[in-house]
Amino acid sequence: SDSFLSVRDLFVHFTTEDGIVKAVDGLSFDLERGQTLGIVGESGSGKSVTNLSILGLHNKKSTSIDGEILLDGKELVNATESEMERLRGNKMAMIFQDSLTALSPYYTVGRQISEPFRKHTGASKKEARDRAIEMLTKVGIPHAKQRVDDYPHQFSGGMRQRAMIAMSLVCNPSLLIADEPTTALDVTVQAQILDLLKDLQQEFGSAIVMITHDLGVVANMADDILVMYAGRAVERGSVREVLKAPQHPYTWGLLGSMPRLSGDVDEPLLPIPGSPPSLLNPPTGCAFHPRCAFTDKVPGDACATERPVLPTGRAAACHLSAEQKQQVYIETIQPR
Ligand code: SF4
Ligand code: MG
Repeated sequence: SDSFLSVRDLFVHFTTEDGIVKAVDGLSFDLERGQTLGIVGESGSGKSVTNLSILGLHNKKSTSIDGEILLDGKELVNATESEMERLRGNKMAMIFQDSLTALSPYYTVGRQISEPFRKHTGASKKEARDRAIEMLTKVGIPHAKQRVDDYPHQFSGGMRQRAMIAMSLVCNPSLLIADEPTTALDVTVQAQILDLLKDLQQEFGSAIVMITHDLGVVANMADDILVMYAGRAVERGSVREVLKAPQHPYTWGLLGSMPRLSGDVDEPLLPIPGSPPSLLNPPTGCAFHPRCAFTDKVPGDACATERPVLPTGRAAACHLSAEQKQQVYIETIQPR
């Protein structure tokens, strides 16, 4: 594949005292330059782990990774730590959920933005400081010239998130990975930060992987959606296709608990019963089968015994027929 980011048959397994956790279990996806992919799923679906492995930030001792991650043609799974260090913060950067994880309390905000810039570009202290002020201005920090010498605790939560975005973008990365970037913020600030990210993406042309459990964020930000369940991709398509006519029973459940975009109260239509499976011992066949209300529509016991594949393009990994995937959705969910 000649996609900008191409993940092929990725397996990420952790060794724990209790056994092997199959956090990512055969995942493939592609992302083009300047596009946004929303990776959606409950916690424990493998979405965060996937992205830590792309960045090479997983625990090397307890993790085994198999498969292929190609960034602009460069293989990352077998890259050395120093190669990864050169890429991180430079060609690819991460925005975390909690700015306090990313920002050190001991250094000024300006220093934390200018340091990666100096490291990757060899800029002088003065140039890097100017760049930090420029970036703080870009992310909407008022009086950036003065605020550049503040410490993170002198910033509000929303401002810290903006400063972290400035830090992530300072080297103009072509891949930005945002893990629940607005979950910790109140709704108004959330919307501002998402708008800011969209503007900056336009300006910098970055590809974004947006990891979230919030379909509202995806609807607003992403071009494509990848729905994950138990470390596997279960549905893929454009935002429009997936939100308008989802094909996988798990996605139906997720959409059932999606707040209406009109801002009405959250009204679960089809809450997903049960809880996410143990990744120590994932269910056989379709990992969703213990929670799925549609297994009786599939002949035999295929749901419990045969792992459904996710075909390429617009698709869902489910044994239901193409017609059933449409019909079931219309019968059970459409009227709302
Ligand atoms: Fe449900 Fe079977 Fe489809 Fe899995 S394969 S989502 S268990 S109908
Ligand atoms: Mg997570």
